[in-house]
Parts: sequence; C-alpha cells; structure tokens
Amino acid sequence: MKNIVILGASGSIGLQTLDVIQRHPEKFRCIGLSVKSRVDMISDVLTKNFGWVVCVERSDDALKYSIEFPQHRFVWGEDGLIEVACLKEADTVVNALVGFVGCRPTLAAIEAKKNIALANKETLVSAGKIVMDAIKRNGVSLMPIDSEHSAIAQCLSTHDENINRLILTASGGSFRDKNRLELNHVTLSDALNHPNWTMGAKITIDSATMMNKGLEVIEAHWLFDVPIEKIDVIMHRQSIVHSMVEFDDRAVIAQLGTPDMRIPIQYALSYPQRLKLEIPSLDLVKAHSLTFESVDFDRFPLLRCAYLAGKREDSSAAALNGANEEAVAAFLAGNIRFIDIDTYVVEAFECMTYGQLSSLDDAIAADKMGREWIKKKISGGNV
Ligand code: MG
Repeated sequence: MKNIVILGASGSIGLQTLDVIQRHPEKFRCIGLSVKSRVDMISDVLTKNFGWVVCVERSDDALKYSIEFPQHRFVWGEDGLIEVACLKEADTVVNALVGFVGCRPTLAAIEAKKNIALANKETLVSAGKIVMDAIKRNGVSLMPIDSEHSAIAQCLSTHDENINRLILTASGGSFRDKNRLELNHVTLSDALNHPNWTMGAKITIDSATMMNKGLEVIEAHWLFDVPIEKIDVIMHRQSIVHSMVEFDDRAVIAQLGTPDMRIPIQYALSYPQRLKLEIPSLDLVKAHSLTFESVDFDRFPLLRCAYLAGKREDSSAAALNGANEEAVAAFLAGNIRFIDIDTYVVEAFECMTYGQLSSLDDAIAADKMGREWIKKKISGGNV
C-alpha cells in the first residue's frame, strides 16, 4: 500500500490522480491533499473518506471546511502546503500545482525523503539542477507525469544508456494551422480549445504558444540528463506517439497510447509495476494515419527561447518561465491579447540580464525579475 499526497488536487491532473487512486484501493491510499479554494471540486471524495490532511489557501476557508468536513484536518497557506507535502506517513507526493509556486513544496518533500511524481514542470525548468541534486542527495525517486516524459521514461525502462537523442512530439496546440498574422484575431475561448487534450488553462495556453514544448525540452534535459542539443521536437498532430528515444545504433523506441493522462499518472504511481487501467484501447486503424512535421521556430518563437535558456543552465530559464507565467495570467485575465504573450516574453528574454543559478533564492529572484518585466511592459512603464 502506497500512501499518497496530492498537491493541486482540484485541477485536471489532481482529479485524474484521485480517479486512479480510487481504481486501486488495494494499492494506493490518499492521505492528504491541497486545493487552492475549489473544495467543491473534491467534496465527493472528502465525504467518502476520513482522516486526511487538507490544505487550502486561506485560514477562513480552513475554518469553514473543518466544520463542514469534521472527519478531516484542515491546514492553510504555504506552511500548510509544506506540512501536507511532508506528512510522515506519505510515500509519494504528486505535485500537480501550476507554476513556479510548486518549487518550494517539491524541495521540502524531497528533503523529507518523499518520492515525487511531478506534473509541475515549471519546477524543473526554473530550478532543475537544485531539484535533481536534492533528489540524488536524499535517495528518492522522481517520476514524470507529463505524457512526453512518461513516454521517454517507459522507452528507457529496459535500457537507458547509449542515447543518441530524445524526440518529443508536439500537437501544435489550438492555433497550429494559423499564421502569426491570424493570431491577432483569436479569442480566449479559441485558445482554450485544444485539439487533443482536455487540460488546465495555463498549460493549454502554453501549448498554443508552444512554450509548453519549450518547458518540456528543459524538463527532459534535467530528468534524463541528456544535453539540450540532443533533444528534438517534431509536430505530431494526433498525440498518439507520446515521444521517442533514438539510441546510438539508430534504433528508435516509441511509446503510444490514447491521449489520456491517467496512463502516465498511474505509471508514475505504480512503477516499476504496470496495473490494469480500464479505459478504451488505442485503435490505430481508427486513427488511420500518424503524421510528423518539422516545427517552425519563427512561428513559435518561445520554443527557440526555451532552447537557448536550456543550453545556458543559468538563471535565464527561471526568468523566462516567470515572464511567461505572468504573460499567460494577463492573457487569461483579459489584459493582453494572445499574440502579446510571445511578443512580450521574447522581448523580456532578450533584454533581461542573467546570473548563475546555484540556490533556490537565485531561482526565486530570476522568476521575480521575469514577472516584473512583464508587469511593467503591460502597465506601459519603462522596462
Ligand atoms: Mg506534455
């Protein structure tokens, strides 16, 4: 029996993790989780279970819900998040938080000797070296919950040496068939309409700019210790081949599956075992054809920035990520247009100055610099 904590339980990955846990009550037990404020999203599971530690953002919510759900203990704020991430009985912490905010609880959980199942890619992008050093020092495991990285981990599960390159596949997101001129007229609801995956808002927007793929290149670099220049991205519209590994003998191993995040979530929890998952089988005849195309870096400039930042291994990736988080939030709030996201973030990336990244504080400072740059740009101030 594995005791599991879920950070970000009311989001898309969090809810699907609860679903996977409920399908295997003999293998997995949830003992704690965090939600920002959407306790309503998990009221069903809270009613059916007891004895969990539940973290919410605000103290008044913690008080309110401890009356509504007296069978659970409610904590709040960043201290509460760290407490739930480090619960003594926890074996694995699923980090499904969105953004750099997930970094500190991840590091706290690692220091508390918890295994990590990571959907929070911004953590590895901004503080990859720090996180990977902590993983090694504490002798815990880090399993990716990202379809591409889970695919690569599965391709490497029987042989993980002599890698020539990693090939990440990219659907291209909501606007893959639009040119940059056409992006001037797209709306928020167009942007949130991903062709293959149902996901949270931030990652869906990141998919549309392909910043998501850029973050994934950097994430793959840290997870698998492969140089950035050996990580390729190709467009694959069907999201069936989730990624591939080419070995030195030019053999290529791929992992295929329906676009259902419960596959990588369950694999991260059950590894090295594989458990049954009652979802429809992949129907390749129905899929009919699988297509692959090169990526146009002029069309998706944030992908180019991510490659550059990934190669530098300094504070630039944290700053780029911070700038992007701020720009996406501004777009979701209706304050800037879709096309402004990459225009502003590319400009920020080219203008900011970077330093070394040797501590979490360096990453926090770089993240802040990126956010501030975008905030000033949007408010019309000098940047
Ligand atoms: Mg992905």
